[in-house]
Amino acid sequence: MLRSCPVTAGPTSYRLTQEQELLRDAVRVLADERIAPRAAEIDRTAEFPWDVKELLAAQDILGLPFPTDFGGVGGELLTVCLAVEQISQVCATSGLILAVQELGALPILLAGTDEQKARWLPDLAAGRTLIAFALTESEAGSDAAAARTRARRDGTDYVIDGAKRFISQGSVADLVTVFAVTDDAADRHRRLSCFVVETKTAGFKVERLEHKMGIRGSPTAELSFSGLRVPAENRLGGEGDGFSIAMRTLDRSRPAIAAQAVGIAQGALEVASRHARERKQFGKPIGELQMVAAMLADMDAGTEAARQLLYKACVEIDAGSPQASRWSAMCKLVAGDTAMRVTTDAVQVLGGYGYIDEFPVERMMRDAKITQLYEGTQQIQRLVIARSLLGRS
Ligand SMILES: Cc1cc2nc3c(=O)[nH]c(=O)nc-3n(C[C@H](O)[C@H](O)[C@H](O)COP(=O)(O)OP(=O)(O)OC[C@H]3O[C@@H](n4cnc5c(N)ncnc54)[C@H](O)[C@@H]3O)c2cc1C
Repeated sequence: MLRSCPVTAGPTSYRLTQEQELLRDAVRVLADERIAPRAAEIDRTAEFPWDVKELLAAQDILGLPFPTDFGGVGGELLTVCLAVEQISQVCATSGLILAVQELGALPILLAGTDEQKARWLPDLAAGRTLIAFALTESEAGSDAAAARTRARRDGTDYVIDGAKRFISQGSVADLVTVFAVTDDAADRHRRLSCFVVETKTAGFKVERLEHKMGIRGSPTAELSFSGLRVPAENRLGGEGDGFSIAMRTLDRSRPAIAAQAVGIAQGALEVASRHARERKQFGKPIGELQMVAAMLADMDAGTEAARQLLYKACVEIDAGSPQASRWSAMCKLVAGDTAMRVTTDAVQVLGGYGYIDEFPVERMMRDAKITQLYEGTQQIQRLVIARSLLGRS
Protein backbone atom coordinates (compact mmCIF):
# COMPACT_ATOMS: atom_id res chain seq x y z
CA MET A 1 0.00 0.00 0.00
CA LEU A 2 2.80 2.38 0.89
CA ARG A 3 4.28 1.94 -2.58
CA SER A 4 1.34 3.88 -4.01
CA CYS A 5 2.11 6.82 -1.68
CA PRO A 6 5.58 7.98 -2.77
CA VAL A 7 7.29 10.11 -0.17
CA THR A 8 8.29 13.22 -2.10
CA ALA A 9 9.60 16.47 -0.75
CA GLY A 10 6.75 18.95 -0.59
CA PRO A 11 7.31 22.67 -1.06
CA THR A 12 7.69 23.19 2.67
CA SER A 13 9.84 20.21 3.56
CA TYR A 14 13.47 21.09 3.95
CA ARG A 15 17.03 19.93 3.86
CA LEU A 16 19.75 22.54 4.08
CA THR A 17 21.16 23.27 0.63
CA GLN A 18 24.90 23.02 0.07
CA GLU A 19 25.09 26.84 0.04
CA GLN A 20 23.28 27.04 3.36
CA GLU A 21 25.61 24.45 4.90
CA LEU A 22 28.64 26.33 3.60
CA LEU A 23 27.29 29.61 4.97
CA ARG A 24 26.52 28.01 8.35
CA ASP A 25 30.01 26.53 8.61
CA ALA A 26 31.74 29.73 7.48
CA VAL A 27 29.84 31.82 10.05
CA ARG A 28 30.68 29.27 12.74
CA VAL A 29 34.41 29.53 11.97
CA LEU A 30 34.19 33.33 11.98
CA ALA A 31 32.30 33.27 15.29
CA ASP A 32 34.80 30.88 16.90
CA GLU A 33 37.87 32.73 15.68
CA ARG A 34 36.82 36.39 15.82
CA ILE A 35 33.81 36.77 18.15
CA ALA A 36 34.26 34.12 20.87
CA PRO A 37 37.49 35.71 22.17
CA ARG A 38 35.54 38.99 22.68
CA ALA A 39 32.37 37.55 24.28
CA ALA A 40 33.33 37.72 27.97
CA GLU A 41 34.66 41.25 27.60
CA ILE A 42 31.53 42.43 25.77
CA ASP A 43 29.47 41.05 28.65
CA ARG A 44 31.72 42.60 31.31
CA THR A 45 32.01 46.08 29.80
CA ALA A 46 28.40 46.18 28.54
CA GLU A 47 29.60 48.21 25.56
CA PHE A 48 28.21 47.83 22.06
CA PRO A 49 30.83 45.83 20.07
CA TRP A 50 31.42 48.13 17.11
CA ASP A 51 34.27 45.87 15.97
CA VAL A 52 31.86 42.92 15.70
CA LYS A 53 29.34 45.07 13.81
CA GLU A 54 32.14 46.03 11.36
CA LEU A 55 33.12 42.38 11.02
CA LEU A 56 29.53 41.32 10.25
CA ALA A 57 29.24 44.15 7.71
CA ALA A 58 32.56 43.34 6.05
CA GLN A 59 31.61 39.66 5.73
CA ASP A 60 28.21 40.57 4.17
CA ILE A 61 26.43 38.91 7.09
CA LEU A 62 24.39 42.06 7.76
CA GLY A 63 23.24 41.83 4.14
CA LEU A 64 21.54 38.45 4.68
CA PRO A 65 18.04 39.80 5.51
CA PHE A 66 17.95 41.93 2.35
CA PRO A 67 17.08 41.00 -1.24
CA THR A 68 19.76 41.38 -3.89
CA ASP A 69 17.68 44.06 -5.66
CA PHE A 70 18.40 46.36 -2.73
CA GLY A 71 22.05 45.54 -2.15
CA GLY A 72 21.55 42.50 0.08
CA VAL A 73 22.70 38.93 -0.36
CA GLY A 74 19.55 36.98 0.33
CA GLY A 75 16.38 37.80 2.13
CA GLU A 76 15.63 34.20 3.14
CA LEU A 77 14.61 33.71 6.74
CA LEU A 78 16.33 30.34 7.13
CA THR A 79 19.68 31.80 6.06
CA VAL A 80 19.37 34.71 8.48
CA CYS A 81 18.52 32.28 11.28
CA LEU A 82 21.45 29.98 10.48
CA ALA A 83 23.78 32.95 10.87
CA VAL A 84 22.13 34.25 14.07
CA GLU A 85 22.35 30.74 15.54
CA GLN A 86 26.05 30.31 14.78
CA ILE A 87 27.01 33.72 16.17
CA SER A 88 24.84 33.27 19.29
CA GLN A 89 26.63 29.99 20.11
CA VAL A 90 29.55 32.11 21.22
CA CYS A 91 28.00 35.54 21.90
CA ALA A 92 24.27 36.27 22.16
CA THR A 93 24.88 40.04 22.06
CA SER A 94 26.64 39.70 18.71
CA GLY A 95 23.91 37.43 17.31
CA LEU A 96 21.42 40.12 18.22
CA ILE A 97 23.15 42.71 16.01
CA LEU A 98 21.99 40.77 12.95
CA ALA A 99 18.57 39.94 14.45
CA VAL A 100 17.85 43.61 15.25
CA GLN A 101 19.06 44.79 11.83
CA GLU A 102 16.42 42.47 10.39
CA LEU A 103 13.75 43.42 12.97
CA GLY A 104 14.14 47.16 12.40
CA ALA A 105 14.20 46.82 8.61
CA LEU A 106 11.25 44.44 8.29
CA PRO A 107 8.61 47.21 8.33
CA ILE A 108 10.40 48.72 5.29
CA LEU A 109 10.74 45.33 3.61
CA LEU A 110 7.10 44.45 4.25
CA ALA A 111 5.35 47.80 3.76
CA GLY A 112 7.79 50.15 2.02
CA THR A 113 7.38 51.36 -1.55
CA ASP A 114 10.19 50.62 -4.01
CA GLU A 115 11.29 54.22 -3.57
CA GLN A 116 11.46 53.87 0.22
CA LYS A 117 13.32 50.56 -0.10
CA ALA A 118 15.83 52.09 -2.52
CA ARG A 119 16.35 54.99 -0.12
CA TRP A 120 17.15 53.02 3.04
CA LEU A 121 17.88 49.35 2.34
CA PRO A 122 21.22 49.47 0.46
CA ASP A 123 22.98 51.25 3.35
CA LEU A 124 21.39 48.86 5.86
CA ALA A 125 22.38 45.82 3.79
CA ALA A 126 25.97 47.05 3.60
CA GLY A 127 26.01 47.70 7.35
CA ARG A 128 26.80 51.39 6.73
CA THR A 129 23.73 52.23 8.81
CA LEU A 130 22.00 50.46 11.69
CA ILE A 131 18.27 50.37 12.39
CA ALA A 132 16.15 49.74 15.51
CA PHE A 133 12.46 48.86 16.02
CA ALA A 134 10.45 50.99 18.46
CA LEU A 135 7.08 49.57 19.41
CA THR A 136 7.20 49.11 23.22
CA GLU A 137 6.32 51.90 25.65
CA SER A 138 6.37 51.97 29.44
CA GLU A 139 2.58 51.47 29.54
CA ALA A 140 2.33 49.40 26.36
CA GLY A 141 4.38 46.18 26.47
CA SER A 142 2.45 42.99 25.70
CA ASP A 143 -0.49 45.25 24.86
CA ALA A 144 1.35 47.08 22.08
CA ALA A 145 -1.87 48.51 20.63
CA ALA A 146 -2.15 50.70 23.75
CA ALA A 147 0.80 52.88 22.61
CA ARG A 148 0.51 56.61 23.35
CA THR A 149 3.31 58.11 21.26
CA ARG A 150 1.53 60.44 18.87
CA ALA A 151 2.15 61.51 15.27
CA ARG A 152 0.17 64.60 14.27
CA ARG A 153 -0.12 65.57 10.60
CA ASP A 154 1.16 69.07 9.91
CA GLY A 155 1.19 69.98 6.22
CA THR A 156 3.60 67.68 4.41
CA ASP A 157 5.10 66.46 7.71
CA TYR A 158 4.14 64.50 10.80
CA VAL A 159 5.17 65.76 14.24
CA ILE A 160 5.98 62.97 16.69
CA ASP A 161 5.79 63.35 20.49
CA GLY A 162 6.17 60.60 23.06
CA ALA A 163 8.58 57.96 24.32
CA LYS A 164 9.58 54.36 23.71
CA ARG A 165 11.14 51.98 26.21
CA PHE A 166 13.42 48.93 25.89
CA ILE A 167 14.58 49.67 22.34
CA SER A 168 17.43 47.35 21.37
CA GLN A 169 20.28 49.26 19.77
CA GLY A 170 18.18 52.44 19.96
CA SER A 171 21.23 54.44 21.03
CA VAL A 172 23.50 53.26 18.21
CA ALA A 173 21.01 53.18 15.34
CA ASP A 174 20.90 55.67 12.46
CA LEU A 175 17.25 54.86 11.74
CA VAL A 176 14.36 53.72 13.93
CA THR A 177 11.00 52.37 12.78
CA VAL A 178 8.61 54.09 15.19
CA PHE A 179 4.97 53.15 15.78
CA ALA A 180 2.81 56.12 16.76
CA VAL A 181 -0.89 56.93 17.14
CA THR A 182 -2.34 58.83 14.18
CA ASP A 183 -6.02 58.33 15.04
CA ASP A 184 -6.95 57.97 18.70
CA ALA A 185 -10.62 57.44 17.89
CA ALA A 186 -10.02 54.51 15.53
CA ASP A 187 -10.47 50.85 16.39
CA ARG A 188 -7.51 49.82 18.59
CA HIS A 189 -5.83 47.94 15.76
CA ARG A 190 -6.14 50.93 13.38
CA ARG A 191 -4.79 53.65 15.72
CA LEU A 192 -1.09 53.26 14.85
CA SER A 193 1.02 54.22 11.86
CA CYS A 194 4.66 53.37 11.24
CA PHE A 195 7.39 55.91 10.46
CA VAL A 196 11.06 55.71 9.59
CA VAL A 197 12.82 58.22 11.86
CA GLU A 198 16.40 59.34 11.26
CA THR A 199 17.99 59.56 14.69
CA LYS A 200 19.91 62.73 13.85
CA THR A 201 16.59 64.59 13.48
CA ALA A 202 15.98 67.41 16.01
CA GLY A 203 13.69 66.23 18.82
CA PHE A 204 15.12 62.69 18.97
CA LYS A 205 16.78 61.90 22.29
CA VAL A 206 18.25 58.84 23.98
CA GLU A 207 17.06 59.35 27.56
CA ARG A 208 18.95 56.47 29.16
CA LEU A 209 20.25 52.92 28.80
CA GLU A 210 19.12 49.97 30.94
CA HIS A 211 21.47 47.93 33.16
CA LYS A 212 20.63 44.36 32.29
CA MET A 213 20.96 40.74 33.39
CA GLY A 214 22.12 39.50 29.98
CA ILE A 215 22.84 40.51 26.36
CA ARG A 216 24.75 43.24 28.13
CA GLY A 217 26.62 44.53 25.06
CA SER A 218 23.33 45.26 23.30
CA PRO A 219 22.28 48.76 24.38
CA THR A 220 18.62 48.84 25.43
CA ALA A 221 17.49 52.45 25.19
CA GLU A 222 14.67 54.64 26.35
CA LEU A 223 13.95 57.07 23.51
CA SER A 224 11.97 60.31 23.55
CA PHE A 225 10.53 62.31 20.68
CA SER A 226 9.74 65.97 21.21
CA GLY A 227 8.21 67.86 18.31
CA LEU A 228 10.17 65.54 16.00
CA ARG A 229 9.31 66.24 12.34
CA VAL A 230 9.30 63.52 9.73
CA PRO A 231 8.19 64.07 6.15
CA ALA A 232 5.06 62.16 5.13
CA GLU A 233 7.28 60.19 2.68
CA ASN A 234 8.72 58.46 5.77
CA ARG A 235 5.39 56.82 6.64
CA LEU A 236 5.34 53.11 5.76
CA GLY A 237 2.00 51.93 4.40
CA GLY A 238 -1.18 53.89 4.95
CA GLU A 239 -2.37 55.71 8.06
CA GLY A 240 -3.68 53.10 10.51
CA ASP A 241 -1.55 50.25 9.05
CA GLY A 242 0.98 50.42 11.91
CA PHE A 243 -0.37 47.64 14.13
CA SER A 244 -0.68 45.24 11.22
CA ILE A 245 2.88 46.09 10.07
CA ALA A 246 4.17 45.47 13.61
CA MET A 247 2.45 42.08 13.87
CA ARG A 248 3.63 40.99 10.40
CA THR A 249 7.13 42.08 11.38
CA LEU A 250 7.03 39.96 14.55
CA ASP A 251 5.79 36.94 12.58
CA ARG A 252 9.00 37.14 10.56
CA SER A 253 11.38 38.32 13.30
CA ARG A 254 10.55 35.89 16.12
CA PRO A 255 12.37 33.01 14.37
CA ALA A 256 15.61 35.01 14.63
CA ILE A 257 15.10 35.13 18.41
CA ALA A 258 14.43 31.39 18.34
CA ALA A 259 17.73 31.07 16.42
CA GLN A 260 19.49 33.12 19.09
CA ALA A 261 18.01 30.75 21.71
CA VAL A 262 19.07 27.59 19.82
CA GLY A 263 22.57 29.04 19.44
CA ILE A 264 22.85 29.84 23.15
CA ALA A 265 21.64 26.31 24.03
CA GLN A 266 24.12 24.68 21.64
CA GLY A 267 26.96 26.81 22.99
CA ALA A 268 26.14 25.79 26.58
CA LEU A 269 25.79 22.12 25.60
CA GLU A 270 29.25 22.13 24.02
CA VAL A 271 30.89 23.68 27.10
CA ALA A 272 29.08 21.23 29.40
CA SER A 273 30.00 18.17 27.29
CA ARG A 274 33.66 19.19 27.21
CA HIS A 275 33.67 19.70 30.96
CA ALA A 276 31.96 16.33 31.53
CA ARG A 277 34.75 14.61 29.56
CA GLU A 278 37.56 16.42 31.38
CA ARG A 279 36.40 16.86 34.98
CA LYS A 280 37.08 13.83 37.18
CA GLN A 281 35.34 13.02 40.47
CA PHE A 282 35.19 9.63 42.22
CA GLY A 283 38.08 8.56 39.98
CA LYS A 284 36.35 8.99 36.62
CA PRO A 285 35.07 11.68 34.24
CA ILE A 286 31.77 13.05 35.53
CA GLY A 287 30.26 12.30 32.10
CA GLU A 288 30.43 8.62 33.07
CA LEU A 289 28.14 9.25 36.02
CA GLN A 290 24.68 8.30 34.78
CA MET A 291 22.87 11.30 36.22
CA VAL A 292 25.25 13.70 34.48
CA ALA A 293 25.12 11.73 31.20
CA ALA A 294 21.31 11.76 31.28
CA MET A 295 21.31 15.53 31.75
CA LEU A 296 23.60 15.96 28.74
CA ALA A 297 21.44 13.62 26.62
CA ASP A 298 18.30 15.64 27.46
CA MET A 299 20.12 18.89 26.65
CA ASP A 300 21.23 17.55 23.27
CA ALA A 301 17.80 16.13 22.35
CA GLY A 302 16.00 19.30 23.43
CA THR A 303 18.35 21.58 21.48
CA GLU A 304 18.03 19.49 18.32
CA ALA A 305 14.22 19.41 18.62
CA ALA A 306 14.12 23.21 18.96
CA ARG A 307 16.47 23.59 15.98
CA GLN A 308 14.37 21.35 13.73
CA LEU A 309 11.18 23.23 14.64
CA LEU A 310 12.94 26.52 13.94
CA TYR A 311 14.17 25.45 10.48
CA LYS A 312 10.74 24.05 9.58
CA ALA A 313 9.10 27.30 10.75
CA CYS A 314 11.49 29.35 8.58
CA VAL A 315 10.66 27.30 5.50
CA GLU A 316 6.92 27.55 6.16
CA ILE A 317 7.09 31.31 6.66
CA ASP A 318 9.28 31.84 3.58
CA ALA A 319 6.77 29.79 1.56
CA GLY A 320 4.01 32.22 2.64
CA SER A 321 2.20 29.88 5.03
CA PRO A 322 -1.17 31.27 6.17
CA GLN A 323 -0.11 29.98 9.60
CA ALA A 324 3.03 32.14 9.80
CA SER A 325 2.00 33.56 13.20
CA ARG A 326 1.62 30.05 14.63
CA TRP A 327 4.95 28.75 13.25
CA SER A 328 6.76 31.83 14.41
CA ALA A 329 5.28 31.73 17.93
CA MET A 330 5.85 27.96 18.26
CA CYS A 331 9.52 28.10 17.37
CA LYS A 332 10.21 31.02 19.71
CA LEU A 333 8.28 29.39 22.56
CA VAL A 334 10.05 26.04 22.26
CA ALA A 335 13.51 27.48 21.59
CA GLY A 336 13.33 30.07 24.37
CA ASP A 337 12.26 27.53 26.98
CA THR A 338 14.89 25.08 25.69
CA ALA A 339 17.66 27.69 25.96
CA MET A 340 16.66 28.49 29.54
CA ARG A 341 16.53 24.82 30.56
CA VAL A 342 19.72 23.79 28.74
CA THR A 343 21.80 26.69 30.08
CA THR A 344 20.53 26.08 33.63
CA ASP A 345 21.50 22.42 33.29
CA ALA A 346 24.88 23.41 31.84
CA VAL A 347 25.59 25.39 35.02
CA GLN A 348 24.57 22.28 36.99
CA VAL A 349 26.94 20.04 35.00
CA LEU A 350 29.81 22.40 35.75
CA GLY A 351 28.95 22.53 39.45
CA GLY A 352 30.58 25.47 41.23
CA TYR A 353 32.59 26.25 38.08
CA GLY A 354 29.32 26.93 36.30
CA TYR A 355 28.53 29.72 38.69
CA ILE A 356 31.69 31.75 38.16
CA ASP A 357 32.72 33.79 35.16
CA GLU A 358 35.80 31.68 34.47
CA PHE A 359 33.45 29.59 32.29
CA PRO A 360 30.87 31.06 29.87
CA VAL A 361 27.80 29.09 31.00
CA GLU A 362 26.69 31.59 33.67
CA ARG A 363 26.69 34.28 30.97
CA MET A 364 24.78 31.97 28.63
CA MET A 365 22.18 31.33 31.34
CA ARG A 366 21.73 35.08 31.86
CA ASP A 367 21.56 35.65 28.09
CA ALA A 368 19.02 32.84 27.61
CA LYS A 369 16.44 34.52 29.84
CA ILE A 370 15.78 37.37 27.42
CA THR A 371 14.64 34.93 24.71
CA GLN A 372 11.63 34.13 26.92
CA LEU A 373 10.77 37.81 27.23
CA TYR A 374 11.32 39.98 24.17
CA GLU A 375 9.43 40.04 20.88
CA GLY A 376 6.49 38.83 22.96
CA THR A 377 6.79 36.91 26.22
CA GLN A 378 6.27 33.14 26.26
CA GLN A 379 2.73 33.76 27.55
CA ILE A 380 2.02 35.88 24.46
CA GLN A 381 3.43 33.14 22.17
CA ARG A 382 1.03 30.67 23.81
CA LEU A 383 -1.87 33.08 23.18
CA VAL A 384 -0.91 33.35 19.50
CA ILE A 385 -0.68 29.55 19.13
CA ALA A 386 -3.94 28.94 20.99
CA ARG A 387 -5.78 31.55 18.89
CA SER A 388 -4.58 29.85 15.72
CA LEU A 389 -5.57 26.44 17.10
CA LEU A 390 -8.99 27.59 18.20
CA GLY A 391 -9.61 29.46 14.96
CA ARG A 392 -9.83 33.00 16.31
CA SER A 393 -7.98 35.87 14.62
C1 LIG B 1 16.47 43.65 26.71
C2 LIG B 1 15.17 43.99 26.03
C3 LIG B 1 15.18 44.36 24.70
C4 LIG B 1 14.00 44.73 24.06
N1 LIG B 1 14.02 45.16 22.75
C5 LIG B 1 12.89 45.70 22.21
C6 LIG B 1 12.94 46.36 20.93
O1 LIG B 1 14.00 46.41 20.27
N2 LIG B 1 11.82 46.96 20.47
C7 LIG B 1 10.65 46.95 21.16
O2 LIG B 1 9.67 47.52 20.68
N3 LIG B 1 10.56 46.31 22.37
C8 LIG B 1 11.66 45.70 22.91
N4 LIG B 1 11.60 45.09 24.14
C9 LIG B 1 10.32 45.05 24.85
C10 LIG B 1 9.77 43.65 25.01
O3 LIG B 1 9.29 43.18 23.78
C11 LIG B 1 8.71 43.71 26.11
O4 LIG B 1 9.42 43.87 27.33
C12 LIG B 1 7.83 42.49 26.15
O5 LIG B 1 7.01 42.46 25.02
C13 LIG B 1 6.96 42.43 27.41
O6 LIG B 1 6.37 43.65 27.72
P1 LIG B 1 6.50 44.23 29.20
O7 LIG B 1 7.93 44.17 29.56
O8 LIG B 1 5.81 45.54 29.26
O9 LIG B 1 5.75 43.17 30.12
P2 LIG B 1 4.18 43.15 30.46
O10 LIG B 1 3.39 43.25 29.21
O11 LIG B 1 3.91 44.12 31.56
O12 LIG B 1 4.02 41.66 31.03
C14 LIG B 1 4.29 41.29 32.39
C15 LIG B 1 3.87 39.85 32.59
O13 LIG B 1 2.46 39.69 32.30
C16 LIG B 1 2.28 38.69 31.32
N5 LIG B 1 1.15 39.04 30.46
C17 LIG B 1 0.91 40.26 29.86
N6 LIG B 1 -0.20 40.18 29.12
C18 LIG B 1 -0.65 38.92 29.20
C19 LIG B 1 -1.77 38.21 28.66
N7 LIG B 1 -2.65 38.80 27.85
N8 LIG B 1 -1.94 36.91 29.00
C20 LIG B 1 -1.06 36.29 29.83
N9 LIG B 1 0.02 36.89 30.38
C21 LIG B 1 0.22 38.19 30.06
C22 LIG B 1 3.60 38.67 30.53
O14 LIG B 1 3.77 37.44 29.87
C23 LIG B 1 4.60 38.89 31.63
O15 LIG B 1 4.88 37.68 32.28
C24 LIG B 1 12.77 44.67 24.78
C25 LIG B 1 12.76 44.27 26.12
C26 LIG B 1 13.95 43.96 26.75
C27 LIG B 1 13.91 43.57 28.20
